[in-house]
Amino acid sequence: MSMKVLFCGVGEAFDETLSNTSIFVEVQEHGNVRKILLDCGFTAAPSFWRFAGDPLDLDALWISHLHGDHFLGLPQLLIRFSEHGRVKPLQISGVSGTSVAVKQSMELAYPGKWDRLGFEVQFIEASPEETLHLGGIQALAIPVEHSVPCLGIKLHAQDLSIFYTGDGRLAKHYWPKIEGCHLAVCEAFALEADVPGHSSVSRVTSMARQAGIRQTVLVHMQRQERRKYKDSLPVYLEEAQINGFLPEPGDRVELQKKGPGR
Ligand SMILES: [Zn+2]
Repeated sequence: MSMKVLFCGVGEAFDETLSNTSIFVEVQEHGNVRKILLDCGFTAAPSFWRFAGDPLDLDALWISHLHGDHFLGLPQLLIRFSEHGRVKPLQISGVSGTSVAVKQSMELAYPGKWDRLGFEVQFIEASPEETLHLGGIQALAIPVEHSVPCLGIKLHAQDLSIFYTGDGRLAKHYWPKIEGCHLAVCEAFALEADVPGHSSVSRVTSMARQAGIRQTVLVHMQRQERRKYKDSLPVYLEEAQINGFLPEPGDRVELQKKGPGR
């Protein structure tokens, strides 16, 4: 079995050079492939389309929170699915309020189109610490401290697991929930500054070390902060004894589980 993680977008809300953070996950298990997109902001849909290979196969979307740079790419994505003749149902899961917000955004962007998409949208709204199935993959919603309610998501298949924060910082008492994850994709808005409602590279490295995260990926870095520290980050992470990196759009990580009967 394998989990492939593709970084369609790695930017913050308003970076003119990087599209919004949006992560495409493919889980291959027992001959089945499940495809899940984590967040889809203003500028994310074209990046997903560019990198995903066969975007029409998408099984499920996860919306970590209701900020525009995390969900307002949905009208564009859903209409494009419709234009390409999608009939396969789509699961959209996320924080409480996702269903109303997605329908309202559709009505504002393309009035009257919601009822004529041509495929079914199934909503699942998660509560903090709820276990759910996201595109058929076992998932755990973990609250993250941000300026609006936000849920990080841990995906688990056999003994491979990945975690994505959405925006914000994970409180220390939740670190055991992600202990030993093979991959953590974490918002790191600043290098070290304490920005309310956001995390930082220094916070993420501290969490990754203590939670025994095997590989850490830093996303959603504030645009000026990213340009300033991009070149020195590999050394920073090495000195922090973290196996991690700051991805570019299109970068991939593949996790493999090998062994008899798997
Ligand atoms: Zn946000």
